[in-house]
Amino acid sequence: MKIINVTKTFLPPLQEYEEYLKEIWASGQLTNQGPLLKKFEESTEEYLGVSNLHFVSNGTIALQLALKALDITGGEVITTPFSYVATTSAILWERCEPVFVDIDPDTLTIDPNKIEQAITGKTKAIMPVHVFGNPCDVEVIEKIAAKHNLKVIYDGAHAFGVKYKGKSLLSYGDISTCSFHATKLFHTIEGGAVITNSRKISDKLELMKRFGHYGDSHKMLGINAKASEFQAAMGLCNLNHIDNIIEKRQRLSDLYDRLVGYNLQRPKASDDTKYNYAYYPVIFENEDKLLSAIEKLKEHDIFPRRYFFPSLNTLPYLVNKQSCPISEDVSTRILCLPLYPDLTEEAVNSICEITLK
Ligand SMILES: *Cc1c(COP(=O)(O)O)cnc(C)c1O
Repeated sequence: MKIINVTKTFLPPLQEYEEYLKEIWASGQLTNQGPLLKKFEESTEEYLGVSNLHFVSNGTIALQLALKALDITGGEVITTPFSYVATTSAILWERCEPVFVDIDPDTLTIDPNKIEQAITGKTKAIMPVHVFGNPCDVEVIEKIAAKHNLKVIYDGAHAFGVKYKGKSLLSYGDISTCSFHATKLFHTIEGGAVITNSRKISDKLELMKRFGHYGDSHKMLGINAKASEFQAAMGLCNLNHIDNIIEKRQRLSDLYDRLVGYNLQRPKASDDTKYNYAYYPVIFENEDKLLSAIEKLKEHDIFPRRYFFPSLNTLPYLVNKQSCPISEDVSTRILCLPLYPDLTEEAVNSICEITLK
């Protein structure tokens, strides 16, 4: 049997990519806000229903730009311990202090009822994550932020295509970011986006992402966060397939759902969510059962991933040790099962059988 990994990057038909390569060869422009990048930004804004979307080189620099654009440098940032390491490392890299607030055991997103007690005089922002594409409690978070004069940056790395109350989940907060990495639901090889409703912040991002200058006029400190025409071309190809990709993932997820009830738990999303089927996480009763399922699947060349493990508040390079018992517990028991559009229904059925054995 072929190896089955937790995910497999979607590749569009080669011919479709070649059509764009011809355009790049004709324009001679490979990067620096080229015609394909502009087209990709506009098409993605339209697809998602958002405005002021900046296509950047990856989802991590998107978070760093967000912190910089909102002048957060140096303060405390309230965040979730249950995420990929980039959420925390972006905060640390910008010389901010991550303050971890534990998660809700049902949604696995930051527990909004625990945010206020973590706010101090140094708190400048809240950086929650729509983990696995499950919406955070955006209404309560917005209220808390307004009351305490804090900025909100949503790490929406998993939220491409998710709608909450009919609106793109990426349209919430002062800034939302996304990742278009090859392992994500929607990809541009490497890539990411910074999205904001504010024209003023958007103008700042426009400069910051390209060294802070237009021609010889240097306006502010910037960095290189530009994406290339080749990445934009991949994005334009994949946009044409994304609805189909999500539909196929939905069908496989529905098949996986027979696992639920056999002492396996699933994260819950709000009823107001139109989901993107980015991941299929299951929570085991205890870590031993999870480890034994991993071993059994491995014998069949099936490799799920422990997303997200370990809980980020336990990272060895953190100076301040903070405790988040729910996240620490869930992270030892959660496993993401393989999910990608050309995974077969037979494979899903055998993964279910092996997992339940
Ligand atoms: C993947 C991911 C990122 C980082 O995105 P890159 O494009 O890989 O830099 C940030 N946050 C979360 C939650 C992610 O899953």
